[in-house]
Amino acid sequence: MRVAIIGGGAAGLMAAITAAKTGIQVDLYEQNREVGKKILASGNGRCNISNQSLSSHDYFGRHPSFVNFALKAFDFKRFERFCASIGLLLDRKVDGRCYPLSNEARSVQHALKRYAEHIGVQIRTQSSVISVKRVADTFIVKTSEREEAYRKLLIATGSPAAPQLGGNDSGWKIAKSLGHTIIPAYPSLVGLHLADSWHTRMSGVKCDAEVTLYLNGKKEVTIGGDILFTRYGVSGFAILDLSSFASPALLRGDRVTIGVNLLPAFDRQGLVAHLQQTAKSAPFLTIEALLEGVLPHKTASVLLASLEIAGDMAVGDVGAKRLRRIATQIVDWRFEVVDTHGYKHAEVAGGGVDTAEVDPKTMESKKVAGLYFAGEVLDIVGKRGGYNLHFAWASGYLAGQSMGIKS
Ligand SMILES: Cc1cc2nc3c(=O)[nH]c(=O)nc-3n(C[C@H](O)[C@H](O)[C@H](O)COP(=O)(O)OP(=O)(O)OC[C@H]3O[C@@H](n4cnc5c(N)ncnc54)[C@H](O)[C@@H]3O)c2cc1C
Repeated sequence: MRVAIIGGGAAGLMAAITAAKTGIQVDLYEQNREVGKKILASGNGRCNISNQSLSSHDYFGRHPSFVNFALKAFDFKRFERFCASIGLLLDRKVDGRCYPLSNEARSVQHALKRYAEHIGVQIRTQSSVISVKRVADTFIVKTSEREEAYRKLLIATGSPAAPQLGGNDSGWKIAKSLGHTIIPAYPSLVGLHLADSWHTRMSGVKCDAEVTLYLNGKKEVTIGGDILFTRYGVSGFAILDLSSFASPALLRGDRVTIGVNLLPAFDRQGLVAHLQQTAKSAPFLTIEALLEGVLPHKTASVLLASLEIAGDMAVGDVGAKRLRRIATQIVDWRFEVVDTHGYKHAEVAGGGVDTAEVDPKTMESKKVAGLYFAGEVLDIVGKRGGYNLHFAWASGYLAGQSMGIKS
């Protein structure tokens, strides 16, 4: 009995290995020249492969609790043991993240591919699946070269994020053609486009900030970390994390605003006191020079311009009211978000196959017997930190196991 897997990414490879270990023959279809291209690009080429602390709170989607069974059945320790069994040792970081000990994503891709081949998985690269038809109790899998019938099929085609690495929505189209509901998609873990143009003048400035997201004027979440001003808007780790909330809100048509605190170490009152005190002790300074004592040069001048305050004004002439306005802008500079930086620059996509129609214990479709889903093709998306790859491993493992057991 042969089964087919569409997609040779993290989920497809793990599923292929797990299914082949049960003794069945697995055909793995991958459109790219090699498997695991996103694995290779992950973690800036280092592959943040998993996280030691995993729970449904680390995931988004209509039903994030869908991940519970998979995270329990294939938890971090189990994954680590699996990796060790194929010769891949992991480096556990104190913050919970985990990387291959080699510090190279290539080790991960090589180890999985080698092992899959060793246990007999037929890896068919440069084989893009065009369509799947259900005929009686078989799935007819069609590529440009051939058509083959299988009793079981796993769709592990990922999402449209990073199309340059093979990201596309073909899995959603196939799932839809087989009767599944697709939850509207959005790019996530991605930079954000801003409405006005102050950011363009600060392009290249990176700072350790705190960013608060407001949806229709209501505070949603505050996240601390790096932010980077760019020509299109903002990026950096804090913004990527925030995009998990901002991007679906943009899709819903919410008014999305961010408040950037450029000096999270200060509260507003403390900052006003500091500015007033320095204005007194160093009256020879201009207001821009005073701000350069606490902010990057570009940020200081653009922030003053945004308030229509001349940078060359002597601090003695600024006055208490303007100093308070400056302090407010430093700790809560509001920017309107108009878009994301798009799928090309996104690490993942939210939305996808509705998990209400999939059994969380087996990853089998509740609508079509013998059809399975795993990884990012499902309406599950994780935070940054190894969560997305871990869900791909865990859901791939469950799908592979149940395809094998029930064949
Ligand atoms: C730049 C970048 C960095 C990232 N870094 C991290 C990180 O450090 N940690 C982390 O946890 N996550 C990271 N991610 C996210 C993570 O890589 C994905 O969530 C994960 O790879 C999803 O696995 P998957 O198997 O579901 O999908 P994919 O890895 O996308 O695999 C799907 C495969 O299916 C193939 N395919 C698609 N359609 C067809 C078709 N019709 N026929 C045949 N083949 C098809 C694709 O070519 C692809 O190889 C990163 C993503 C990107 C883009």
